[in-house]
Amino acid sequence: MIVDEKAVAKRWRVPKGHVYVLEDVCKGCGFCIEFCPRKVLVQADHYNAKGYHPPEVVDAGACVMCGFCELICPDFAIWTEKGETGKLASGMNPDDGRPTGEGGNGAR
Ligand code: SF4
Ligand code: SF4
Repeated sequence: MIVDEKAVAKRWRVPKGHVYVLEDVCKGCGFCIEFCPRKVLVQADHYNAKGYHPPEVVDAGACVMCGFCELICPDFAIWTEKGETGKLASGMNPDDGRPTGEGGNGAR
């Protein structure tokens, strides 16, 4: 069965594109969180299907689309895609940059 990863991934709008996380692929190693140079990511409170805490975007506005989270993830569970530039989407909270409604599968 071919799975449309983009359709099932959580997605956050960031200034230069989007950050995607396939939560149930994540093994909770925390590399992406630890090595993000802008502290964009944190460990989510909830668990994924494997019983790990996946990363989530907590400060979308700080993301510089460096792609390091994608590069360092051993399980290809997080990736970035460049998109339109400019201000954050209207659904974003300007204080913490968290998305409030956008997403393929429940991104907050
Ligand atoms: S693209 Fe860079 S700044 Fe953005 S979340 Fe990933 S590691 Fe952090
Ligand atoms: S680097 Fe990959 S596997 Fe590790 S916590 Fe981040 S998304 Fe999950």
